[in-house]
Amino acid sequence: MAEKERFDFCTECRKETEYTLQKRNIVKTIKDVEYTFSITVALCNECGEEVSLPGLIDKNIQEVDEQYRAYEGIVSVGDIEKLMKIYKIGKAPLSLALGFGEVTITRYLSGQIPSKEYSDIMKMALSSPTFMKEKLQENKEKIASAAYNKAMDAAVQLETLFSVSDKMLRVIAYVFEKLEEVTPLMLQKLLYFIQGESYVLNGKPMFCENCQAWIHGPVYPEVYYMFSDFKYNPIEDARFAIFKGAEDELTKEEQKVVDLVVNTFGEYGGKMLERITHEETPWKFARKGYADNIPSHETITMESIENYYTEKNKEYDFTAEDGLKQYIRDILQ
Ligand SMILES: [Zn+2]
Repeated sequence: MAEKERFDFCTECRKETEYTLQKRNIVKTIKDVEYTFSITVALCNECGEEVSLPGLIDKNIQEVDEQYRAYEGIVSVGDIEKLMKIYKIGKAPLSLALGFGEVTITRYLSGQIPSKEYSDIMKMALSSPTFMKEKLQENKEKIASAAYNKAMDAAVQLETLFSVSDKMLRVIAYVFEKLEEVTPLMLQKLLYFIQGESYVLNGKPMFCENCQAWIHGPVYPEVYYMFSDFKYNPIEDARFAIFKGAEDELTKEEQKVVDLVVNTFGEYGGKMLERITHEETPWKFARKGYADNIPSHETITMESIENYYTEKNKEYDFTAEDGLKQYIRDILQ
């Protein structure tokens, strides 16, 4: 992108001068607690004084608001909007369902900062459909029945949708965090490589789910149904707000497994990853007796994944990115 020319009127120099945008820390006391916030200032290139730009104040107010919420672990306006979206519920009924006053959510949406207690309730609702169901039931009498039913249906759907192990959820969340665009096909293959890499690094599987030898390579069926709506497109949906923060619960060793896979296999698209799995013994073995175009639900056993990756590790050293990259190059040749 070309450098944008930035000029504005400097009140010191009394003329239009070029300015530079810089970050500056400010200290602010809120409710007797001191906070350091980073804001953006425009400095005149000639005299070094601050130039006041239209729009900069609003931008800084918003930045400070976001940083304050982050410090205090307070839910953001965007998260509250997600909450309404994933549970298909309006401001007023959501407020009542969570046990707040009818206009509380409306006030939050226009910028009022929630208390920690209310913020935690909203975060729980965002990360747990089961909690949302309980809240809805608790406050059923206060909400119109149409709104109640719609939100309840959405919560039940989400609950069944996310019926994979916690470990699987956390791994998926971490993959999403690390890779900008992940299609369902790509995700399936990465999960399978992660399982193999986990045997190499940690001597045990990452998650308890088994994958099957489908036509297009290894597939974790539960994960397949979670994301099948996206077909060949990158996965992106308000529902996945529910994953937020889940990756924090992976251990350092587990994160390393995902890092290694994402930084190597993750550089390829779904079709290339599929090609790699088609060259590997676990999938080929489970597909024995099936012609290429015949669907199968044969399990790719954990043992076959363990054996294959442990063997290949001896040859390539899968504990380092270089080893994995060499393996990928060789197999794609
Ligand atoms: Zn100046």
